[in-house]
Amino acid sequence: MSDTLLEVRGLRKHFHPKRRVTVRAVEDVSFSIRRGEAFGLVGESGCGKSTAARALLRLIEPDAGSVRFGGADVLTARGASLKAIRRRMQIVFQDPYSSLDPRQSIGGALTEPMRVHGIAEGRDARRRAGALLEEVGLPPAALDRYPHEFSGGQRQRIGIARALALEPELIVADEPVSALDVSVQAQVLLLLEDLRRRRGLAFLFVSHDLSVVRWFCERVAVMYLGRIVEEGPVARVLNAPLHPYAAMLRDAYPVPDPAHRAALPRIIGEIPSAAAPPPGCPFHPRCVHAMPRCSTEPPALLAKDDGAVACHLHG
Ligand code: SF4
Repeated sequence: MSDTLLEVRGLRKHFHPKRRVTVRAVEDVSFSIRRGEAFGLVGESGCGKSTAARALLRLIEPDAGSVRFGGADVLTARGASLKAIRRRMQIVFQDPYSSLDPRQSIGGALTEPMRVHGIAEGRDARRRAGALLEEVGLPPAALDRYPHEFSGGQRQRIGIARALALEPELIVADEPVSALDVSVQAQVLLLLEDLRRRRGLAFLFVSHDLSVVRWFCERVAVMYLGRIVEEGPVARVLNAPLHPYAAMLRDAYPVPDPAHRAALPRIIGEIPSAAAPPPGCPFHPRCVHAMPRCSTEPPALLAKDDGAVACHLHG
């Protein structure tokens, strides 16, 4: 059996909010995730990371590219085969409240997907749902309560339990702790890490927060204006980034070793609109290392050492 669980190649998603306006939200994004691996996708708000995550799950339909999951072709799957793939890839949202029906009990929210996917029903489904709640640190008595009766952290635990209800192999966690208080963030991250180890789950962890990604992930890809600009082992990318944008991002977050902060440039300027990305390297208007060719020649993402980088300084 291949070690690769998810393989994304050339994923593209454009939006057309008005006539003659094209927002290039995701452009030629490629990465892979091994079984049981935690892979981070980071970047500023609006860089396309959440859109890429939703497109590979087909919560929105991508325009181009390929997504293979456990050998199955996700983008051409239909009917029963798509349903089977969806069962194995689940998502945890930033705001679980918006994804929980306020009129449905927690028991209903957990047993419904089991029934729809033919995993369990009736008493068996309820017993499984109670066990899931215990696994995420909530009492089984919570089955008969409703979403508004829980705190934000508890609701996120319920969202995690619901994702686990279909016994997935991959969890796409889209900013799963950024809406929570810092103390609660740590508890939920510890829970996710514990589940990952016990169940052998792989994660696509989408976040703007490098400190969280540094703690949780093994590898990371940095996105800018819809494209991956650097990818590699998380410790190397965040401690010694090759791409100037990854260096800027890293500089925006405190790191334990002050030696890694000294020579880094500060965040400069605003992220340009994905409806009118700059020509050449899209980062050139903000880059302190920009050269004349950077405003005309787009750099390709090329393999470099233990990862890949898209920058003329390195290619
Ligand atoms: Fe900066 Fe040029 Fe590299 Fe883009 S290609 S990140 S502008 S040095």
